[in-house]
Amino acid sequence: MKKKQIETMLIHEGYESSEYQGSLTPPLFQTSTFTFPTAQHGEQSFSGESNGYIYSRLGNPTVHILEERMATLEEGEAALAFGSGMAAVSTTLFSLIRAGDHIVCSKGIYGCTFGLLEMLENRFGVQHDFCNMSTEEELYEVIQENTKVIFIETPINPTMKLIDIEKVVAVAKKKNIIVVVDNTFCSPYLQNPLSLGCDIVLHSATKYIGGHGDVIAGIVVCKTKELADAMLPVRKDTGGIMSPFDAWLLLRGLKTLAVRMERHCDNAEKVFAFLHSHPIVKEVYYPGDSNHPDYYISKKQMRKGGGVIAFTVHGSKEETQEILNHLKMIKIAVSLGDTETLIQHPATMTHSVVPKKLQQKMGITDNMIRMSVGLEAWEDIVDDLQQAFANTTIQKI
Ligand SMILES: *Cc1c(COP(=O)(O)O)cnc(C)c1O
Repeated sequence: MKKKQIETMLIHEGYESSEYQGSLTPPLFQTSTFTFPTAQHGEQSFSGESNGYIYSRLGNPTVHILEERMATLEEGEAALAFGSGMAAVSTTLFSLIRAGDHIVCSKGIYGCTFGLLEMLENRFGVQHDFCNMSTEEELYEVIQENTKVIFIETPINPTMKLIDIEKVVAVAKKKNIIVVVDNTFCSPYLQNPLSLGCDIVLHSATKYIGGHGDVIAGIVVCKTKELADAMLPVRKDTGGIMSPFDAWLLLRGLKTLAVRMERHCDNAEKVFAFLHSHPIVKEVYYPGDSNHPDYYISKKQMRKGGGVIAFTVHGSKEETQEILNHLKMIKIAVSLGDTETLIQHPATMTHSVVPKKLQQKMGITDNMIRMSVGLEAWEDIVDDLQQAFANTTIQKI
Protein backbone atom coordinates (compact mmCIF):
# COMPACT_ATOMS: atom_id res chain seq x y z
CA MET A 1 0.00 0.00 0.00
CA LYS A 2 1.12 3.53 -0.76
CA LYS A 3 2.83 5.34 2.13
CA LYS A 4 0.27 7.46 3.96
CA GLN A 5 0.42 11.22 4.33
CA ILE A 6 1.70 12.54 7.67
CA GLU A 7 -1.77 13.79 8.73
CA THR A 8 -3.01 10.19 8.47
CA MET A 9 0.04 8.56 10.05
CA LEU A 10 -0.28 10.84 13.10
CA ILE A 11 -3.65 9.26 13.76
CA HIS A 12 -3.26 5.62 12.70
CA GLU A 13 0.38 4.57 12.55
CA GLY A 14 1.64 1.80 14.83
CA TYR A 15 -1.77 0.84 16.18
CA GLU A 16 -4.15 -1.88 15.06
CA SER A 17 -7.42 -1.79 17.00
CA SER A 18 -8.23 -5.44 16.19
CA GLU A 19 -5.21 -6.47 18.28
CA TYR A 20 -6.73 -4.71 21.30
CA GLN A 21 -10.31 -6.01 21.35
CA GLY A 22 -11.41 -3.30 18.92
CA SER A 23 -10.55 -0.40 21.19
CA LEU A 24 -10.59 2.66 18.92
CA THR A 25 -7.89 4.41 20.94
CA PRO A 26 -4.72 2.74 22.24
CA PRO A 27 -5.35 1.27 25.73
CA LEU A 28 -3.40 2.50 28.72
CA PHE A 29 -1.35 -0.36 30.20
CA GLN A 30 -0.90 1.20 33.62
CA THR A 31 1.18 -1.60 35.11
CA SER A 32 4.67 -1.86 36.55
CA THR A 33 5.23 -5.53 35.78
CA PHE A 34 3.97 -8.38 33.58
CA THR A 35 3.14 -11.87 34.76
CA PHE A 36 4.56 -15.03 33.19
CA PRO A 37 2.30 -18.07 32.80
CA THR A 38 5.24 -20.37 33.75
CA ALA A 39 8.80 -20.04 35.06
CA GLN A 40 10.01 -21.22 31.64
CA HIS A 41 8.21 -18.31 29.96
CA GLY A 42 10.02 -16.02 32.39
CA GLU A 43 13.35 -17.63 31.50
CA GLN A 44 12.67 -17.24 27.77
CA SER A 45 11.68 -13.58 28.17
CA PHE A 46 14.90 -12.79 30.04
CA SER A 47 17.12 -14.73 27.63
CA GLY A 48 15.56 -12.95 24.68
CA GLU A 49 14.18 -16.17 23.18
CA SER A 50 10.70 -14.70 23.38
CA ASN A 51 10.01 -10.99 23.24
CA GLY A 52 7.15 -10.65 25.70
CA TYR A 53 6.93 -7.75 28.15
CA ILE A 54 8.76 -8.15 31.49
CA TYR A 55 8.74 -4.91 33.47
CA SER A 56 7.70 -1.38 32.43
CA ARG A 57 11.17 0.14 32.87
CA LEU A 58 12.24 -2.15 30.00
CA GLY A 59 9.15 -1.70 27.83
CA ASN A 60 5.37 -1.32 27.94
CA PRO A 61 2.71 -1.83 25.23
CA THR A 62 1.29 1.73 25.40
CA VAL A 63 4.80 3.18 25.26
CA HIS A 64 5.60 0.81 22.40
CA ILE A 65 2.67 2.01 20.27
CA LEU A 66 3.97 5.57 20.64
CA GLU A 67 7.51 4.44 19.72
CA GLU A 68 6.24 2.69 16.58
CA ARG A 69 4.26 5.76 15.54
CA MET A 70 7.19 8.10 16.13
CA ALA A 71 9.66 5.85 14.28
CA THR A 72 7.49 5.96 11.16
CA LEU A 73 6.81 9.70 11.45
CA GLU A 74 10.52 10.50 11.64
CA GLU A 75 11.44 7.90 9.02
CA GLY A 76 13.64 5.85 11.35
CA GLU A 77 13.88 2.12 12.07
CA ALA A 78 13.26 2.35 15.82
CA ALA A 79 12.28 4.81 18.53
CA LEU A 80 12.77 4.96 22.29
CA ALA A 81 10.54 6.95 24.62
CA PHE A 82 11.81 8.76 27.72
CA GLY A 83 10.50 10.43 30.84
CA SER A 84 11.77 13.84 29.70
CA GLY A 85 13.50 15.52 26.79
CA MET A 86 16.66 15.68 28.89
CA ALA A 87 16.50 11.92 29.59
CA ALA A 88 16.37 11.52 25.80
CA VAL A 89 19.37 13.85 25.31
CA SER A 90 21.47 12.34 28.12
CA THR A 91 20.76 8.70 27.26
CA THR A 92 21.56 9.38 23.61
CA LEU A 93 24.92 10.92 24.52
CA PHE A 94 25.71 8.21 27.11
CA SER A 95 25.12 5.51 24.51
CA LEU A 96 27.41 7.17 21.94
CA ILE A 97 30.38 8.44 23.93
CA ARG A 98 32.94 7.33 26.46
CA ALA A 99 35.61 9.16 28.50
CA GLY A 100 38.15 10.85 26.21
CA ASP A 101 35.70 11.47 23.37
CA HIS A 102 34.78 14.84 21.91
CA ILE A 103 31.42 16.37 20.94
CA VAL A 104 30.84 19.20 18.47
CA CYS A 105 27.74 21.22 19.21
CA SER A 106 25.81 24.00 17.50
CA LYS A 107 26.55 27.44 18.92
CA GLY A 108 23.31 27.87 20.79
CA ILE A 109 21.49 25.00 22.43
CA TYR A 110 18.89 24.29 25.05
CA GLY A 111 20.10 25.49 28.47
CA CYS A 112 20.06 22.06 30.15
CA THR A 113 21.83 20.41 27.20
CA PHE A 114 24.50 23.05 27.78
CA GLY A 115 24.56 22.08 31.47
CA LEU A 116 24.89 18.40 30.57
CA LEU A 117 27.84 19.08 28.24
CA GLU A 118 29.53 21.02 31.05
CA MET A 119 28.98 18.11 33.45
CA LEU A 120 30.32 15.59 30.93
CA GLU A 121 33.42 17.73 30.52
CA ASN A 122 34.04 18.48 34.21
CA ARG A 123 33.27 15.07 35.64
CA PHE A 124 33.54 12.46 32.89
CA GLY A 125 36.35 13.67 30.62
CA VAL A 126 34.25 14.28 27.51
CA GLN A 127 35.24 17.56 25.85
CA HIS A 128 33.06 19.68 23.59
CA ASP A 129 33.36 22.63 21.23
CA PHE A 130 30.70 24.92 19.85
CA CYS A 131 30.55 25.73 16.16
CA ASN A 132 28.42 28.03 13.98
CA MET A 133 28.36 25.37 11.26
CA SER A 134 27.51 27.95 8.63
CA THR A 135 30.31 26.61 6.41
CA GLU A 136 32.04 23.25 6.02
CA GLU A 137 35.38 24.92 6.85
CA GLU A 138 34.08 26.01 10.27
CA LEU A 139 33.18 22.40 11.00
CA TYR A 140 36.51 20.99 9.84
CA GLU A 141 38.22 23.46 12.17
CA VAL A 142 36.59 22.08 15.33
CA ILE A 143 36.41 18.39 14.45
CA GLN A 144 39.13 16.35 16.18
CA GLU A 145 40.38 12.79 15.86
CA ASN A 146 38.23 11.82 18.84
CA THR A 147 35.02 13.61 17.76
CA LYS A 148 32.23 11.04 18.01
CA VAL A 149 29.10 13.15 17.84
CA ILE A 150 27.87 16.32 16.18
CA PHE A 151 24.88 17.56 18.16
CA ILE A 152 22.72 20.25 16.62
CA GLU A 153 19.55 22.16 17.15
CA THR A 154 17.85 23.87 14.26
CA PRO A 155 16.18 26.31 14.67
CA ILE A 156 18.57 27.17 17.48
CA ASN A 157 17.00 28.01 20.80
CA PRO A 158 16.46 30.93 21.41
CA THR A 159 18.05 32.84 18.52
CA MET A 160 16.13 31.00 15.78
CA LYS A 161 19.22 30.71 13.58
CA LEU A 162 19.17 27.72 11.27
CA ILE A 163 21.72 25.06 10.42
CA ASP A 164 21.80 23.33 7.04
CA ILE A 165 21.44 19.69 8.13
CA GLU A 166 22.57 18.22 4.80
CA LYS A 167 25.74 20.30 4.89
CA VAL A 168 26.64 19.04 8.37
CA VAL A 169 25.84 15.45 7.37
CA ALA A 170 28.12 15.68 4.33
CA VAL A 171 31.09 16.57 6.55
CA ALA A 172 30.17 14.06 9.29
CA LYS A 173 29.90 11.17 6.81
CA LYS A 174 33.46 11.77 5.61
CA LYS A 175 34.71 11.68 9.21
CA ASN A 176 32.50 8.83 10.42
CA ILE A 177 30.80 10.99 13.03
CA ILE A 178 27.24 10.44 14.27
CA VAL A 179 24.89 13.40 13.73
CA VAL A 180 22.17 13.98 16.33
CA VAL A 181 19.47 16.60 15.73
CA ASP A 182 17.26 17.99 18.49
CA ASN A 183 14.08 18.53 16.44
CA THR A 184 11.93 19.85 19.30
CA PHE A 185 11.19 23.25 17.76
CA CYS A 186 9.86 21.73 14.53
CA SER A 187 8.10 18.52 15.59
CA PRO A 188 7.97 15.74 13.01
CA TYR A 189 5.42 17.79 11.07
CA LEU A 190 7.79 20.57 10.02
CA GLN A 191 11.16 18.87 9.63
CA ASN A 192 12.48 15.30 9.31
CA PRO A 193 16.25 15.26 9.93
CA LEU A 194 16.65 11.49 9.31
CA SER A 195 15.43 11.99 5.74
CA LEU A 196 18.21 14.60 5.38
CA GLY A 197 20.84 12.03 6.35
CA CYS A 198 21.36 12.47 10.08
CA ASP A 199 21.57 9.39 12.33
CA ILE A 200 19.48 10.21 15.37
CA VAL A 201 16.65 12.69 15.89
CA LEU A 202 15.25 13.53 19.29
CA HIS A 203 12.42 15.57 20.74
CA SER A 204 11.34 17.07 23.98
CA ALA A 205 7.82 15.66 23.55
CA THR A 206 6.85 18.07 26.32
CA LYS A 207 6.53 20.71 23.61
CA TYR A 208 4.62 20.36 20.31
CA ILE A 209 4.14 16.58 20.39
CA GLY A 210 2.23 16.73 23.69
CA GLY A 211 0.99 20.16 22.75
CA HIS A 212 -1.19 20.82 25.77
CA GLY A 213 1.29 21.69 28.51
CA ASP A 214 0.49 18.66 30.65
CA VAL A 215 3.35 16.19 30.07
CA ILE A 216 7.13 16.09 30.50
CA ALA A 217 8.52 13.54 28.02
CA GLY A 218 11.16 12.83 25.39
CA ILE A 219 11.56 10.66 22.29
CA VAL A 220 14.57 9.46 20.32
CA VAL A 221 14.28 8.04 16.80
CA CYS A 222 17.25 6.18 15.31
CA LYS A 223 17.94 5.70 11.64
CA THR A 224 19.10 2.12 12.24
CA LYS A 225 18.02 -0.64 14.59
CA GLU A 226 21.68 -1.03 15.66
CA LEU A 227 21.79 2.50 17.08
CA ALA A 228 18.54 1.87 18.97
CA ASP A 229 19.75 -1.50 20.27
CA ALA A 230 22.85 0.18 21.69
CA MET A 231 20.64 2.68 23.49
CA LEU A 232 18.21 0.17 25.03
CA PRO A 233 20.48 -1.14 27.81
CA VAL A 234 21.47 2.43 28.67
CA ARG A 235 17.83 3.42 29.05
CA LYS A 236 17.16 0.28 31.09
CA ASP A 237 20.02 0.88 33.51
CA THR A 238 19.78 4.66 33.83
CA GLY A 239 16.02 4.25 34.14
CA GLY A 240 14.70 7.14 32.09
CA ILE A 241 11.82 5.45 30.27
CA MET A 242 8.49 7.21 29.73
CA SER A 243 5.48 6.32 31.90
CA PRO A 244 2.54 4.55 30.19
CA PHE A 245 0.17 7.39 31.04
CA ASP A 246 2.47 9.98 29.46
CA ALA A 247 2.72 7.80 26.33
CA TRP A 248 -1.07 7.65 26.25
CA LEU A 249 -1.32 11.44 26.49
CA LEU A 250 1.25 11.86 23.72
CA LEU A 251 -0.60 9.44 21.41
CA ARG A 252 -3.61 11.66 21.97
CA GLY A 253 -1.56 14.82 21.35
CA LEU A 254 -0.05 13.48 18.13
CA LYS A 255 -3.46 13.01 16.53
CA THR A 256 -3.92 16.77 16.24
CA LEU A 257 -0.29 17.70 15.58
CA ALA A 258 -0.80 18.57 11.92
CA VAL A 259 -3.74 20.91 12.51
CA ARG A 260 -2.08 22.45 15.55
CA MET A 261 1.19 23.08 13.76
CA GLU A 262 -0.58 24.70 10.82
CA ARG A 263 -2.33 27.12 13.18
CA HIS A 264 0.83 27.75 15.26
CA CYS A 265 2.64 28.69 12.05
CA ASP A 266 -0.19 30.86 10.67
CA ASN A 267 -0.51 32.71 13.98
CA ALA A 268 3.26 33.16 14.23
CA GLU A 269 3.33 34.72 10.76
CA LYS A 270 0.73 37.29 11.86
CA VAL A 271 2.57 38.02 15.11
CA PHE A 272 5.83 38.29 13.19
CA ALA A 273 4.31 40.91 10.84
CA PHE A 274 3.07 42.90 13.83
CA LEU A 275 6.42 42.78 15.67
CA HIS A 276 8.30 43.60 12.51
CA SER A 277 6.38 46.84 12.08
CA HIS A 278 6.40 48.03 15.72
CA PRO A 279 8.85 50.83 16.61
CA ILE A 280 9.72 49.37 20.04
CA VAL A 281 10.97 46.20 18.38
CA LYS A 282 14.57 46.23 17.18
CA GLU A 283 14.95 42.87 15.46
CA VAL A 284 12.70 39.86 14.95
CA TYR A 285 14.07 36.36 14.42
CA TYR A 286 11.65 34.02 12.72
CA PRO A 287 12.53 31.24 10.23
CA GLY A 288 9.39 32.02 8.23
CA ASP A 289 10.66 35.55 7.51
CA SER A 290 11.64 35.78 3.85
CA ASN A 291 14.34 38.31 4.85
CA HIS A 292 15.79 36.00 7.51
CA PRO A 293 19.45 35.38 6.57
CA ASP A 294 18.84 31.62 6.80
CA TYR A 295 15.55 31.68 4.89
CA TYR A 296 16.97 29.53 2.11
CA ILE A 297 17.69 26.80 4.68
CA SER A 298 14.19 27.12 6.04
CA LYS A 299 12.80 26.64 2.53
CA LYS A 300 15.04 23.64 2.01
CA GLN A 301 14.38 21.64 5.16
CA MET A 302 11.31 23.02 6.93
CA ARG A 303 7.70 22.80 5.80
CA LYS A 304 6.86 26.17 7.42
CA GLY A 305 8.42 28.71 9.81
CA GLY A 306 7.21 27.18 13.08
CA GLY A 307 5.56 28.75 16.09
CA VAL A 308 8.49 30.26 17.98
CA ILE A 309 9.63 33.85 17.50
CA ALA A 310 12.49 35.69 19.20
CA PHE A 311 12.77 39.47 19.15
CA THR A 312 14.79 42.26 20.69
CA VAL A 313 13.47 45.61 21.85
CA HIS A 314 14.98 49.07 22.13
CA GLY A 315 15.44 48.91 25.87
CA SER A 316 17.42 47.72 28.88
CA LYS A 317 17.04 44.43 30.67
CA GLU A 318 14.61 46.04 33.14
CA GLU A 319 12.56 47.61 30.38
CA THR A 320 12.43 44.29 28.56
CA GLN A 321 11.18 42.56 31.71
CA GLU A 322 8.63 45.34 32.15
CA ILE A 323 7.03 44.46 28.81
CA LEU A 324 6.44 40.91 30.04
CA ASN A 325 4.88 42.23 33.25
CA HIS A 326 2.37 44.33 31.28
CA LEU A 327 0.96 41.35 29.37
CA LYS A 328 -2.55 40.32 30.39
CA MET A 329 -3.40 37.15 28.43
CA ILE A 330 0.02 35.94 27.32
CA LYS A 331 1.63 33.94 30.12
CA ILE A 332 5.18 34.39 31.37
CA ALA A 333 6.53 30.85 31.32
CA VAL A 334 9.30 28.74 29.85
CA SER A 335 8.37 25.78 27.61
CA LEU A 336 6.79 26.11 24.19
CA GLY A 337 4.42 24.40 21.82
CA ASP A 338 1.39 24.69 24.08
CA THR A 339 -2.08 25.93 23.17
CA GLU A 340 -1.41 29.01 25.33
CA THR A 341 0.94 31.71 24.07
CA LEU A 342 4.00 31.71 26.34
CA ILE A 343 6.70 34.35 26.65
CA GLN A 344 10.02 34.37 28.48
CA HIS A 345 13.33 36.20 28.90
CA PRO A 346 16.10 33.77 27.79
CA ALA A 347 19.04 35.68 29.35
CA THR A 348 17.61 35.32 32.86
CA MET A 349 15.44 32.25 32.42
CA THR A 350 16.05 29.35 29.98
CA HIS A 351 19.66 30.32 29.28
CA SER A 352 20.63 31.75 32.67
CA VAL A 353 23.02 28.80 33.17
CA VAL A 354 25.06 29.98 30.16
CA PRO A 355 27.80 32.39 31.30
CA LYS A 356 27.26 36.00 30.16
CA LYS A 357 30.23 35.95 27.78
CA LEU A 358 29.03 32.83 26.02
CA GLN A 359 25.46 34.20 25.97
CA GLN A 360 26.82 37.12 23.97
CA LYS A 361 28.63 34.80 21.57
CA MET A 362 25.42 32.85 21.13
CA GLY A 363 23.50 36.08 20.45
CA ILE A 364 21.44 35.99 23.64
CA THR A 365 21.07 39.58 24.81
CA ASP A 366 19.32 41.21 27.78
CA ASN A 367 16.80 42.86 25.45
CA MET A 368 15.75 39.56 23.85
CA ILE A 369 12.34 37.99 24.34
CA ARG A 370 11.27 34.53 23.17
CA MET A 371 7.69 33.81 22.41
CA SER A 372 5.88 30.55 21.70
CA VAL A 373 2.83 31.60 19.71
CA GLY A 374 -0.21 29.64 20.85
CA LEU A 375 -3.52 28.72 19.31
CA GLU A 376 -5.58 31.70 20.49
CA ALA A 377 -7.02 34.05 17.84
CA TRP A 378 -3.99 35.89 16.46
CA GLU A 379 -5.82 39.22 16.85
CA ASP A 380 -5.98 38.69 20.63
CA ILE A 381 -2.28 37.81 20.83
CA VAL A 382 -1.35 40.93 18.87
CA ASP A 383 -3.72 43.10 20.96
CA ASP A 384 -2.07 41.94 24.17
CA LEU A 385 1.41 42.68 22.83
CA GLN A 386 0.24 46.06 21.55
CA GLN A 387 -1.15 47.18 24.92
CA ALA A 388 1.96 45.90 26.75
CA PHE A 389 4.22 47.86 24.37
CA ALA A 390 2.03 50.95 24.76
CA ASN A 391 2.27 50.76 28.56
CA THR A 392 6.06 50.44 28.90
CA THR A 393 8.30 53.28 29.85
CA ILE A 394 10.59 52.58 26.87
CA GLN A 395 11.24 55.82 24.98
CA LYS A 396 9.30 55.53 21.74
CA ILE A 397 11.61 55.96 18.81
C1 LIG B 1 12.51 21.62 26.40
C2 LIG B 1 13.64 21.23 25.55
C3 LIG B 1 14.50 20.18 25.92
C4 LIG B 1 14.36 19.44 27.23
O1 LIG B 1 13.16 18.75 27.32
P1 LIG B 1 12.41 18.40 28.71
O2 LIG B 1 11.21 17.66 28.25
O3 LIG B 1 12.11 19.70 29.39
O4 LIG B 1 13.35 17.59 29.52
C5 LIG B 1 15.51 19.84 25.06
N1 LIG B 1 15.70 20.50 23.89
C6 LIG B 1 14.91 21.52 23.52
C7 LIG B 1 15.18 22.23 22.24
C8 LIG B 1 13.85 21.92 24.33
O5 LIG B 1 13.08 22.94 23.96
